[in-house]
Amino acid sequence: METIPHWIAGKPYDRAAERHGDVYNPATGAVQARVAFATPAVVDDAIAAAAAALPAWRATSLARRTKIMFAFRELVDRRKEDIAALLTREHGKVPSDALGEVNRGLEVIEFACGIADLIKGEYSENVSTEVDSYAIRQPLGVVAGITPFNFPAMVPMWMYPLAIACGNTFVLKPSERDPSAANFCAQLMMEAGLPPGVLNVVHGDKVAVDRILEHPQVAAVSFVGSTPIARYIYETGTRHGKRVQALGGAKNHMIVLPDADMELAADAAVGAGYGSAGERCMAISVIVAVGDAGERLVPALRERIARLKTGPGSDPGSELGPLITGAHRDKVKGYGDAGVGEGAKLVMDGRGLRVAGHEDGFFLGPCLFDGVRPEMSIYQDEIFGPVLGVVRVATYDEAMAMVHAHPYGNGVAIFTNDGGAARKFVAEVEVGMVGVNVPIPVPMAYYSFGGWKASLFGDLHIYGRDGVRFYTRTKAVTSRWPDPRFRGVDLGFPQNK
Ligand code: NAD
Repeated sequence: METIPHWIAGKPYDRAAERHGDVYNPATGAVQARVAFATPAVVDDAIAAAAAALPAWRATSLARRTKIMFAFRELVDRRKEDIAALLTREHGKVPSDALGEVNRGLEVIEFACGIADLIKGEYSENVSTEVDSYAIRQPLGVVAGITPFNFPAMVPMWMYPLAIACGNTFVLKPSERDPSAANFCAQLMMEAGLPPGVLNVVHGDKVAVDRILEHPQVAAVSFVGSTPIARYIYETGTRHGKRVQALGGAKNHMIVLPDADMELAADAAVGAGYGSAGERCMAISVIVAVGDAGERLVPALRERIARLKTGPGSDPGSELGPLITGAHRDKVKGYGDAGVGEGAKLVMDGRGLRVAGHEDGFFLGPCLFDGVRPEMSIYQDEIFGPVLGVVRVATYDEAMAMVHAHPYGNGVAIFTNDGGAARKFVAEVEVGMVGVNVPIPVPMAYYSFGGWKASLFGDLHIYGRDGVRFYTRTKAVTSRWPDPRFRGVDLGFPQNK
């Protein structure tokens, strides 16, 4: 059976792995490969490779860094079907969804191609007589990224292209569930001209993560994953003196006002609720139907959900793939059971789905609950599967109070034709990313991505201009050329003249 190796100093790491994990094909339920799990010593080797590559890389001209980034962009674009195929094989998402992921990652690489402009500093002439001041942005050093299973290509691309373009060297610890895309892209980076050691990939679990968090040569950590781990990464990383941004989980609400176009709202909710089998941090998982909106929306949802096709990515008709593991499928299914037990009405029940020829795959059909109440676990918890709940409330204010009472604040959407209501919502809502008649408002690469409350620990969002700020530190310089006129000892605090 194939063993997926680490990628260190520009090549597959050749020392035999002491620890391994299984990589499943979620559509068949079979183990298809083993992945090496890093020990602390392997992580140390990756960080040493990144540290060794740092002096030359940070001294590499912006012109050269830009050329490499453009070349990488071309290679990812040319090989995007191959990357998408790896995602379907290991994550299970259907090919159109996998290709969408690669295309959104590509946009961040394109943003990083503009590094020469993004990293510009500031200059002021004559801040005092014949004294000039300027500020420059410099890389942090060796930085690390720790990423989740649900976007194995895109989420790492939120991090390493920009970090590397800024002059840092990088150690990526992708999800151990779908590790191949990271290695593939690291190899493309080499083909694009990146020197060995600038981008390294270590695979593994908590052992690898903990070594990254405590290693004195790691200056900063970007994390994307679930909220309990994000909190742990933030607290542990900052305790070890690192700059940390840690993006966590979500429970994204979609508010539907009675004046909304219900057909549009139903299309949007089904796409955003069940796309990627609900395994997206920006998935809609709760619909808050205001006034009589639920009366018209729920039948429209049922009709669409009944037509959805759940199946393997190898079948071109499949719209939803399997979940990532059998354990996760059982957990999500358990929420279906819990919702029934808590008194919500299960209007579409995908729990018994069997996919012919793929009986051992980790499939679960779409489930829709109506009559969900805030105290239920299916409302409180991030389910991360194809389970959508409808809560019915009488007023806009009640809907807003629910969003505000929820611990997560990643994404939210409002569906309405009332521009005034939408504008008020955008101004008031305490959530990091907001959609107006847009169900998955993932910001463009030139804006930054990040939630509020329990969806992000740290001060800066990821990619976009916040990404450049995160991966650089500012140095302010005050400069005067020696001039005999300014001779003489003065113990006073320097003042501008
Ligand atoms: P996860 O938190 O289980 O794992 C994320 C990473 O942390 C992986 O690399 C994993 O190996 C590592 N990890 C897991 N347990 C650890 C531990 N105890 N100590 C140290 N490291 C550990 O998340 P996941 O299941 O891979 O991904 C799904 C989660 O990610 C969901 O909660 C989803 O909302 C979230 N997510 C958030 C965003 C966002 O932008 N906010 C984007 C994608 C996914």
